[in-house]
Amino acid sequence: MSKVEKIIAKQDKRKAKHKNVVKAPRINYNAQGVKHVSLGTKTVELYFIVHTSEGKNYAGITDLKGMYSYLSKTNYWVHNAVDKEGNYAKGAPIRELVQHCAGVNSFSTGCELIGFAATTKKEWLTTHRKQLSKLAEVIAYWSYSTGNKINSRTVKGHKDFPLGGHTDPGKGFPMRRLRRAARYYVKHGKHLAVNMGGVA
Ligand SMILES: [Zn+2]
Repeated sequence: MSKVEKIIAKQDKRKAKHKNVVKAPRINYNAQGVKHVSLGTKTVELYFIVHTSEGKNYAGITDLKGMYSYLSKTNYWVHNAVDKEGNYAKGAPIRELVQHCAGVNSFSTGCELIGFAATTKKEWLTTHRKQLSKLAEVIAYWSYSTGNKINSRTVKGHKDFPLGGHTDPGKGFPMRRLRRAARYYVKHGKHLAVNMGGVA
């Protein structure tokens, strides 16, 4: 068995293990039909990258629709988006190559959080709790779909790829808690990980 075959076999094994636990997030807005710039198909999947949209949250899915509408007028696009209330919007299929993070577009899946990089840690863990919980669910599903583990090497912020000088999702973003919650989802299913505050 070659090295690549070994990796694939290992990922398949991991996927089979979590088949009955990890469910696809419920879609509130499917932007996959929206015209956008596609750069082709990804063959390698290494990272899950978190962004903040630097836009305000509005009740319902108006914010998510607005963000995708804005992106459709640019060369940028993203695979997922979650608003403050935990509404989830699908942008591109996981294997589609779109521009969201300079340098690693070919290897990564992106998620926009409606909100700002200036959000404090306390705010993320209180008023943005539903958003983080849904994001953990999205990451869990990404992990299941790609066979990637969830850790500091695979789940990162846009700021961790400094090409282009981005700072999102910000200094206060509770990345470690998020990864831990996402791993919890993978292991136990959805509702148990909702309490982000309890996952120290
Ligand atoms: Zn970004």
